[in-house]
Amino acid sequence: MKNSALLATLLLFFCFFCGAAERPQVTIYAMGGTIAGAASSNLDSTGYVSGSLGVQTLIDAVPELKSFADVSGRQVANLESSDVDRTLLLKLAKTIHADLAKPDTSGVVVTHGTDTLEETAFFLDLTTRSPKPVVIVGAMRPATAISADGAMNLYDAVKLAASDSARHRGAMVVMNDRISPAMFVTKTDTHAVEAFQSPEAGYLGGFINGQPYFYYAPTQPVNKPHFDISEVESLPDVSILYSYQDQDDTLIRAAIKNGAKGIVIAGTGNGSIPGRIKPAVKEAMARGIPVVIASRIDAGYVTANDEAIGSGFYNPQKAKIILSLALARHDSMETIRGYFATL
Ligand code: ASP
Repeated sequence: MKNSALLATLLLFFCFFCGAAERPQVTIYAMGGTIAGAASSNLDSTGYVSGSLGVQTLIDAVPELKSFADVSGRQVANLESSDVDRTLLLKLAKTIHADLAKPDTSGVVVTHGTDTLEETAFFLDLTTRSPKPVVIVGAMRPATAISADGAMNLYDAVKLAASDSARHRGAMVVMNDRISPAMFVTKTDTHAVEAFQSPEAGYLGGFINGQPYFYYAPTQPVNKPHFDISEVESLPDVSILYSYQDQDDTLIRAAIKNGAKGIVIAGTGNGSIPGRIKPAVKEAMARGIPVVIASRIDAGYVTANDEAIGSGFYNPQKAKIILSLALARHDSMETIRGYFATL
């Protein structure tokens, strides 16, 4: 008894001093974007080449990461985020799910272009079951800029992915010392470093001196659906159309003709659409092509209407992701309606 207690104490001491068992393991999945961008002048904040630097270069630029985590990098793509597509998204999500299932993995970070970052973050949020942190991060200034924001954003993101307090919170977006919920966050500025906000839901927390803080204990958004993609091989095409004065039914009819399996309309205000496109919307619904009407306004709930499904709290690009995941598992029109009608 005495000997085994002594052995246990020695082992504890050993682990404490070597620190190996204590260190969080974080994988960084690199997708490209401005965070990996390089320009010819350090004043350029446009016209640079996104996705120029490899993941190891990003990691090496922040040696402070080594002080608290074992970080490894995987280059998934090196693209402008406008070129990320649903095939790549599916591959990324499945790779991350396999990584999170390993007992040694503490959390993951995805470096990504900011233009469609919210779509990837939302996709990962809806498809990940693991309580481990999934953190998506980008930068508004290329790595070569004076006062580039990428290095600090990456430090914060890895710190969050390594942090126990970040578990059970779904996917999170880290930018400019703020932590946002993937469910509600959207890009709200084309250039400023403070480019990501959740207009109604707000931030989850932030960072002070590189330490994350949260406003609330771990929580999840009400009615957040989960989609198991383990058996999903491909995602169907869902088109997004934009409403405006003078919109006619040409594009909605073209979408139907081109084989869209679902349609999202960025309507005006509370999802209103011109009367002249309503027959085409009704026709699509009657053919079993769900039409979700979201809003081109950044904030607010879109209620259902006679013609189509209201998107609730989801903006057009997020409504498209839910619709595409629902269609991939052949959900009925009523089930699909239920994902959006949360009030
Ligand atoms: N065009 C870039 C992208 O989304 C912008 C950025 O990363 O901030 O890839």
